[in-house]
Amino acid sequence: MAFIEFRNIIKKFDDHTVLKGINLSIDEGNLVTLLGPSGCGKSTLLRCLAGLEEVTNGEIYLDGVNITNLQPQKRGIGMVFQQYSLFPNMNVYENIAFPLKQKKTPKDKIEQKVLEALKMVDLVGREEAYPHELSGGQQQRVALARSIVQEPKVLLLDEPLSAIDAKLRKSLQEKIKYIQKQLGITTIFVTHDQDEAMIMSDCIHLFNQGNIEQSGSPVDIYTSPKTKFAAEFIGNYNIIERDSLTNIFPSLSLNSSYIAIRPETIQLSKEKTLDTDYIGQATIISYLSHGNVLRYSLKCQNIKFHADVLFRSFTLYEPNSTIYFGIDQHNILEVNDNADI
Ligand code: ADP
Ligand code: MG
Repeated sequence: MAFIEFRNIIKKFDDHTVLKGINLSIDEGNLVTLLGPSGCGKSTLLRCLAGLEEVTNGEIYLDGVNITNLQPQKRGIGMVFQQYSLFPNMNVYENIAFPLKQKKTPKDKIEQKVLEALKMVDLVGREEAYPHELSGGQQQRVALARSIVQEPKVLLLDEPLSAIDAKLRKSLQEKIKYIQKQLGITTIFVTHDQDEAMIMSDCIHLFNQGNIEQSGSPVDIYTSPKTKFAAEFIGNYNIIERDSLTNIFPSLSLNSSYIAIRPETIQLSKEKTLDTDYIGQATIISYLSHGNVLRYSLKCQNIKFHADVLFRSFTLYEPNSTIYFGIDQHNILEVNDNADI
């Protein structure tokens, strides 16, 4: 049995079924991500695990114990939310010490644990500061420290970095991942951001409308999406209907209704000398610079698609010019329309 097991979890709010039979196993010590668009049921699943929502059907096991009906405080689960949930009238030390005081932990033990947690989150010296004196990132680090001093069996992080600006977010992602590995604490991280999921996770579970669409390592999901939804959500794939593609490349033999092609696997050239399995001709519609990558929009017959080219000293293809594009067979991925085929 895995460390955490969700077995056929169904959750309804009145007649709205938010979780449609989730089966999910999580190994001890892993950091897994629930990734998916807003409203697909990620927080609801976390809240069911924490005991903040009752499941309508199904069972949840933690460390071999059926916790489906256990009171929240008996589950040994720590949680950090998107909104900073510190006590405004307590300073950093008091906020982190609070759960330990509740448990009547001896004072010297509290001091030792709070100091260890402060070191982990790089906030030694800020013990006296109040939440309003801290940045959003610092507040989330205090919230994280307050969770880890309780030595929970599982740490749940529900979009903890969503309100934090992009640059700081990167360093906090690394920090969380580092702490998680140091402590070996089984962690479920929720995000709607594919890049964040790619950076953080040992395993990603991609959610779509109350179902798990696909599970796998970040590299797995990025390189082998099984469905149209997965390909659109991760990797910015071009999704093309089969018949449109076979019109351009009649020798292609395809079974699925949809094809996914990653923009960076499409090669561009002014000459027809590309060393790829398939070569077509297209018109440049426009281009946009994304940092070190140029993203071209192209049109071939009735298909519009993107191609990404590394931004270095190379020929710039101007809008309205005609160019050749090349694709290799192994980069033409057949994807299903939905998860249950
Ligand atoms: P996510 O975290 O993936 O954005 P949620 O789990 O918060 O999604 O919500 C999933 C769906 O469940 C949404 O349609 C939301 O409106 C609904 N929902 C969540 N909590 C409640 C509740 N307490 N009562 C009624 N509907 C809810
Ligand atoms: Mg949510």
